[in-house]
Amino acid sequence: MEQAGVQLLLGAKSLVVVGWLALMLGLERLKPATPWKQGADGFSQPRHVFHNLSFWGLNALLSPLLVLPVTLAAAAHAIPWRPADWPLWAMVPLDIILLDLWIYGWHRLNHEWPFLWRFHQVHHFDEQLDSTTALRFHFGEVLLSALARSPVILLLDIPFVSVIAFEILVLVGSIFHHSNISLPRRFESALSRVMITPAIHWVHHHARQRDTDSNYGTILSVWDRLFASRSRRRRSPDMTIGIEGRAENRLLPLLLMPFRSDRSVAGRL
Ligand SMILES: [Zn+2]
Repeated sequence: MEQAGVQLLLGAKSLVVVGWLALMLGLERLKPATPWKQGADGFSQPRHVFHNLSFWGLNALLSPLLVLPVTLAAAAHAIPWRPADWPLWAMVPLDIILLDLWIYGWHRLNHEWPFLWRFHQVHHFDEQLDSTTALRFHFGEVLLSALARSPVILLLDIPFVSVIAFEILVLVGSIFHHSNISLPRRFESALSRVMITPAIHWVHHHARQRDTDSNYGTILSVWDRLFASRSRRRRSPDMTIGIEGRAENRLLPLLLMPFRSDRSVAGRL
């Protein structure tokens, strides 16, 4: 793909994501589902937002150096088996469904393989959820995710435009399902038949391992039903968010956590 085309797609992605984030941040403050609970260790809302935006900022700095080249190389060297006359309007939605299935499996693996959990747990240490939690990922996880996605792009001949369309939907969906927005129950219930909503995803952040090990979907809710990983638990306002029996709210230890040698870091609960 031409450099100008790549820049155009990335610009569109930034615009959509920043606009959506601003909207969700406003709505969840106007109509929050749960009030902010001051942590016993003084964990405050500004600190939580600062931490999550720090992870996002670091990823935004490092991604053009590592993640973007990996993705561009995979798309450029994909096995060219797709007929040239396949229309983009049909290919992009199909690619999004395939990549959503891939990210379901990848997210599940992040919980089941201790090496990947070292990185993914940083996301789960957030003790309260809002839109900014969707941006809180350790750079190691972002890079490993791009590397793990490359063979899928190569083998399925997925064009770069589909990858960016998918990334936009992942971020839009993720900001939405982490958000603290109070939605009308019937509306959310209807939406959850198709999409991952806050009611589904907050259960994944419940500090009970049985629930953390469920509800792995990102965009579509069908995969958890299909692969029997949907939790029966309903989200409740007093649900404890985080990791069962563990807490870490300091930025530097969170950044260094995947590289620590003690076994509790990699161990499951
Ligand atoms: Zn998770």
